[in-house]
Amino acid sequence: MSSLIKRTQDKELGRGMDRQQVVLHMNHGMGDNSYAHNSIIQNKVMREAKPIVEENIKRLHTIIPIHCFKVADLGCSSGPNALQLVSNVIDIVDTTTSNLNLKPPVFQFFLNDLFGNDFNSIFKSLPQFSEIIEEKKGHKLGPCFINATPGTFYKRLFPNNFSHFVHSSFSLHWLSQVPKKLFNKENIHLTSTSPPRMHKAYLEQFQNDFKLFLKLRSQELVSEGGMVLTLFGREETRDMRTAWRLFGITLNDMRLENLIEEIKLESFNLPLYDPTIEEAKEAIEEEGSFTLQRLESVIMGWDGNINEGVDDNNKLDLNMRAQFITKQQRAALEPLLKAQFGENVMDELFLRFKNKVAELMEEKILEFPTLIISLIKKA
Ligand code: SAH
Repeated sequence: MSSLIKRTQDKELGRGMDRQQVVLHMNHGMGDNSYAHNSIIQNKVMREAKPIVEENIKRLHTIIPIHCFKVADLGCSSGPNALQLVSNVIDIVDTTTSNLNLKPPVFQFFLNDLFGNDFNSIFKSLPQFSEIIEEKKGHKLGPCFINATPGTFYKRLFPNNFSHFVHSSFSLHWLSQVPKKLFNKENIHLTSTSPPRMHKAYLEQFQNDFKLFLKLRSQELVSEGGMVLTLFGREETRDMRTAWRLFGITLNDMRLENLIEEIKLESFNLPLYDPTIEEAKEAIEEEGSFTLQRLESVIMGWDGNINEGVDDNNKLDLNMRAQFITKQQRAALEPLLKAQFGENVMDELFLRFKNKVAELMEEKILEFPTLIISLIKKA
């Protein structure tokens, strides 16, 4: 192949970080497999983090006068969760300012995600959202401006000393790219048997990305500005029970049956990392721009504990829970998997995945930790 043709193809396909910025997005629209209809678990995580968001925002209002409260939600995606933070912050600020006898501020929200995100569906939901807020809060609140800020959060998104509060829920486990030079033939992520150099490559990619993220946000935040981040975490030992591991096994079965090409499996790894509390803490301390206010781990079932508080007659059975888990996974991972393995194998892949989840659930409780991190920019 001539180098000119190769260069042109590389350019068209995009490579590494640039390609990921276009391909990576959650499933669009309002269909059955959309993120909008399959993001209940992430919504629960946001609810878990709300008291911590509240604590950070209250602190901010007692130390600096805020006339226009500038808030960024990084990796907002689409669907109901995209405006959940806006609604939570409005509630929190409303209570805080009336308790402190302060005039409510003007709000400016910046919703960020990658270029392929379905921003249009967020825009379409804005009129109804504004009506609901208006009805709830009426004249009490200052004006609320909602902006979109497309781009990767691994680059600068705002001017210096701009935002007061930054939030990012369930997005920072996405790396800027797959670590380079991985040889991972039969899997698509780390497993307990991956060689140490692979663990090191993933950890280094996470540390570089996370520290870069912290540095960029510290430039954009005002002094003493706050930040609350949630992301996938992991317990000390990497056990086999991650959904990513199960996708690896499923894809490998499909390769053995010639349903997907060997080369495609060999060359695919997920750009995701689930740090331990210690790994996250170390990166924050080494980067040095933020004071760590809280770092907690919340354990949740793969199914987001969907049966919790539901009476026995309405509880989902094992098969329905496996289906629920699969749809949540599909909404998040399908665009990447489709780009690599082709649309025609997607139904088969997720059906097999669902069966594997159901089998595993018979034997074990499937859970994962989420890290909730609250930070303050050093003065
Ligand atoms: N915050 C939402 C969405 C979480 S899904 C919720 O809690 O439901 C993760 C989102 O992060 C996806 O929409 C994905 O596109 C986005 N994302 C991943 N990497 C990103 C990056 N580098 N910059 C901006 N957004 C990113």
